[in-house]
Formats: sequence, C-alpha cells, structure tokens
Amino acid sequence: MTRIVDTDLTLRFATRTVHAGQVPEPLAGAVMTPIYQTSTYIQQGLGKHKGYEYARTSNPTREALERNVASLEGARYGFAFSSGLAALDSVMKLLSQGDHVVSGENVYGGSHRQMTHIWSRLGLTFTFVDGGDTAAVAAAVTPTTKIVYAETPTNPMMRLCDLAATGEIAKKAGALFVVDNTFATPFFQQPLLYGADIVLHSTTKYLNGHSDMIGGMLVTSRDDLAERLGFLQNSSGAVPGPFDCWLALRGTKTLALRMRQHDANGRRIAEWLGTQRGVKKIYYPGLPSHPQHELARRQMKGFGGMISIELGDLGVARRFVERTKIFALAESLGGVESLIGHPASMTHASVPREMRERMGLTDSLVRLSVGIEDVDDLIGDLEQALGDD
Ligand SMILES: *Cc1c(COP(=O)(O)O)cnc(C)c1O
Repeated sequence: MTRIVDTDLTLRFATRTVHAGQVPEPLAGAVMTPIYQTSTYIQQGLGKHKGYEYARTSNPTREALERNVASLEGARYGFAFSSGLAALDSVMKLLSQGDHVVSGENVYGGSHRQMTHIWSRLGLTFTFVDGGDTAAVAAAVTPTTKIVYAETPTNPMMRLCDLAATGEIAKKAGALFVVDNTFATPFFQQPLLYGADIVLHSTTKYLNGHSDMIGGMLVTSRDDLAERLGFLQNSSGAVPGPFDCWLALRGTKTLALRMRQHDANGRRIAEWLGTQRGVKKIYYPGLPSHPQHELARRQMKGFGGMISIELGDLGVARRFVERTKIFALAESLGGVESLIGHPASMTHASVPREMRERMGLTDSLVRLSVGIEDVDDLIGDLEQALGDD
C-alpha cells in the first residue's frame, strides 16, 4: 500500500491536511497516528535501533505533525516546538553575537519582547520598521543584517508586508527571510513561494484551531537550514509533548474547512461593522477600503477571521468587550470559538506605548477573532454589545 509521503505535492491542499506525513501504525495498523507517550525506545543491540533513541530528539507523533505542516506550507522539512515563541527562539539561535535583524515593528508582542529583552541583551541588534513599507525595510538593511523578519498580516493592525518585494531585499542582502505565517495559515498564503527561507507558526492558533494546546513550528526547504534547526531543536530542547502534537495533528485535518468558514464569517462581519456608526475604523485586508487590499488579493487566497476596530474611546471599547456574550473576552485567536480582546492591555501590553501609538494601536482598539459559529448569531451578539441600552 502506498501512502502519502512528506512532500507529495501532487495532491491538493485539503487532501494533504488529512493525510500528509502520516503512515499506518506498524503494530495494529491504526489509521490515526497514535500518541507515542514514551521518553525512550528499546534498542536491539548496541547501536541497533529503529531510528528512535530518545524522545527529545525524535518521536513518531511529533514527526507526523512536522511532516504534515511542512507539506501544507510546501516545505521539505518541519520542526515542532513547545510554543510559537520557542520556535522563534531557535530562529534567533541561528545567529551569532553582533548579527543584525530587520523586523517589522508590528510583530506579535511576545516576539518583540523576546527580541528586545533577551536577544538584544545577548548581542544581537535589531531595527524595527513598518514592514508594510518596503523602502523602509530596504533602508534598514546593514552589512551585518542576517535576518529579515516579517509577519503578514500583522497582529492586531492587519498591516501587510509585500512578501515578494521583501524576499528580494533579503536575498540581495544575503540575509534569511523569515515569515511568521500564523495569521494567514498556508491555506491562504504560502510564503515559501515568495522567497521565504523559513516559515514560523504558533500552532496554538489556527493550525490546531481548538484552543486546547500551545505549540510552534518552523518549516524550510533548505537542507542546510534543516540541519541547523534540527540541531537547535534537539540541543535547546523546547520540544512539544506527543499529546500536544496529536491534538495539533487532529486540528490540521480540518484546516481547510475551518479557514473557509473563518473567512466567510470574517468578511460578513467586517462588512457589517462598516455600517455601524460607533465603529470609527476597520482593519481587515478583505475590505476594498483597506489600503493594501490589492496586495492582499495578490499574495493571499482569502482573508480569514481576524478583524480590528477603532472605537475612538477607551470607555466605549471597555463597555463593548465586557458586554459580548458569544465572543469571549480572552487572549489568543484562531480557535473555532469567537474571541474578543483589547490589545493595548492584553496581548500588546509589553509593547512600549510610543511604539503602540505610532502604529495606531490605541487604547480604544478592539480585536476580534471571528470563529466558525453561525454568523447571524455573531452579528447579533456584536449588535447588542454595541447598543445603547
Ligand atoms: C501567538 C503568536 C505567537 C506566539 O506563539 P505562542 O504559541 O503563544 O508562543 C507568535 N506569532 C503570532 C502571530 C502569534 O499570534
């Protein structure tokens, strides 16, 4: 029986979400990849084993997830981590003291915190620019730039980075182009096609999709980077447990279905928000009013369920987020359930105020992670929360 292997890209995306990277379990033929809940593996003799010696180094459940996500991104190699930030940690460990990184200023708050509070102290240098401004990215490159780091769309301002143009800048500089694809997921956007060397995910979000685990992932098609990332994954040791890998692998099976629904609901709600008087601004790349809508249509196949709105006043924003009944007030995003958040005090509290203000992340900005519930119920919930009574 032939089974789909790692990079069988002749099969279409939704087929790969369900099957890629998984092989029949040898003992009983279990169709679903078992949770190999073990730290070690028996050896037949000295140096004689089935390729598994110790579970920090390799675990069959983890490998199935790694091959699955790699296949979805069109990559040859995948490396799973215990969180998205642990994945970023290994990316930064590709560098050495004195190396320079150009990063979008509007990246995930925890990524910015890791760069500025840990890696800066240990000798890496960073320049943060508006990743949506290609000229600014190019101008920030120096002879010691080793990584150009981008997130697109960004969290929570939904600014886009032009992947093809930024990939060119990185290539010319001889730097790695690293893209955090957590928001778009490979269903809507595949950065490797635009010159990315490494794609990063917080699998906590859409890839798992059920808000029941924390995880991260790096994928690449470059042999040299795969070797170094595998070394870092094993040597730094921030690996996920097999149960979390199994949950994420179960999640990716429905990625195509879920993303279609997030996208349909997201578009409807963004349009509806546009008709509401209390909503001063809407940040959603799927709306023709988004300043980078054309770029979004060029490099993305859909726009998903992340929407930010400007309500103009902290009191109004607080009242709104505290009154929704279906949208739960919580950090995180990308699950089947709808969430609402206040970036300035929640996810982005660690970003300095001047920087937040510069990028439009005000105290009255509210972020929605639109889930896959019935969209009319979601609109009803937002309507009653925005209402006057
Ligand atoms: C959540 C998130 C991260 C960090 O991932 P964790 O799994 O929470 O460590 C990185 N980037 C983006 C865009 C995120 O949303």
